[in-house]
Amino acid sequence: MDTLTLAAGLHERLVAWRRDFHMHPELGLEERRSAGIIAEILRGLGYRVQEGVAKTGVVGLLENGPGPVVMSRVDMDALPIQEANDVPYVSQNPGCMHACGHDAHMAIGLGVATLMAQHRDAWRGTLKLIFQPGEEGANGAALMIEDGVLENPRPDVALAVHVWNKNPVGTFGATAGPVMAGAESWKAKIVGKGGHGAMPEQTVDPIVTAALIVSALQTVVSRNVSALDTAVVTVGALLSGDAFNVIPDSAELRGTIRTYNLQTRDMVIRRVREIIEGTARMMGAEATVGLYPLTPPLVNDANVTALVRDVVTDLFGADALKSDVRTMGSEDAAFFLQEIPGCFIFVGSGFADREAPAHHNAHFDIDERALVNGVAVVVEALCRLMG
Ligand SMILES: [Zn+2]
Ligand SMILES: [Zn+2]
Repeated sequence: MDTLTLAAGLHERLVAWRRDFHMHPELGLEERRSAGIIAEILRGLGYRVQEGVAKTGVVGLLENGPGPVVMSRVDMDALPIQEANDVPYVSQNPGCMHACGHDAHMAIGLGVATLMAQHRDAWRGTLKLIFQPGEEGANGAALMIEDGVLENPRPDVALAVHVWNKNPVGTFGATAGPVMAGAESWKAKIVGKGGHGAMPEQTVDPIVTAALIVSALQTVVSRNVSALDTAVVTVGALLSGDAFNVIPDSAELRGTIRTYNLQTRDMVIRRVREIIEGTARMMGAEATVGLYPLTPPLVNDANVTALVRDVVTDLFGADALKSDVRTMGSEDAAFFLQEIPGCFIFVGSGFADREAPAHHNAHFDIDERALVNGVAVVVEALCRLMG
């Protein structure tokens, strides 16, 4: 079947779905309206639908004879951002906005659901469409897995898409190996001894200690991580004191660690801890460090990725395939791809004629031609995986 033409035929419906979701964004694990619309459409198309998975998640199952089980995952949540765009489909929900493109993912998911249901002659097996809540920090993927989403039946292969404004519409990124980073957040409390700003000798200054820690942490990536490897250590918050003439008792640092493999991750975590605790000790202060794992690295399977790359090249030409599309951002689809071999596909959604706004920005918007592109690539990949 001519997937591209079929997907193009859905353009207006995809745009309407996406704009409706965009106007009615919902935060993580609160996606009740979005989930309700999705469940109803899936049921109408003949899917077996399970609602309330990980609170607001929806799973649609379409059984079409013996064959492989393939899952395709999209996320549904919006962000706590006040939209600054002046568009007819601007968010109607104050302080909440689809600023990462998950509105587009839901539309793409419904487009995929539609074409796969209408063209059952083009594939054999079981299609499992997973509409996931709470990607933006609520760990919806892990919650869905806890709720058993990867069983009954267990998928053999997983696909997931993300619209990507850094790349122009009409391009795709599908790269084997790690493409998004494993992420941890960390928090350190530095306890010194407060006192008069004019008599520092009577104090243990937590601000000076924290400043030394911030500087020393810069050596983890530059001195401990191989120049051929990749990692980020960021201090995102340094909180202490509030008067010009007072040395406070304590300081708090908060940050994040990003890595592409678990060995580097363990080493970076160890060094961050050693530097914080050691520097505090050197200054006569005390430090307690808390580390909180968020997501593992997102690793694309080589075989599935090769198939997706062939799909992109066949449908859109070799120039459409961007190699080495990777980011130190993180994505909880990593939990699915950690268990099921698969491919996370970046669908270019940047405007052709002007600079595309960044994800998580109040001006975020996409070139909506990315919707048809996303549907076409996923449907074609599904049909080849289940051909
Ligand atoms: Zn995001
Ligand atoms: Zn996202």
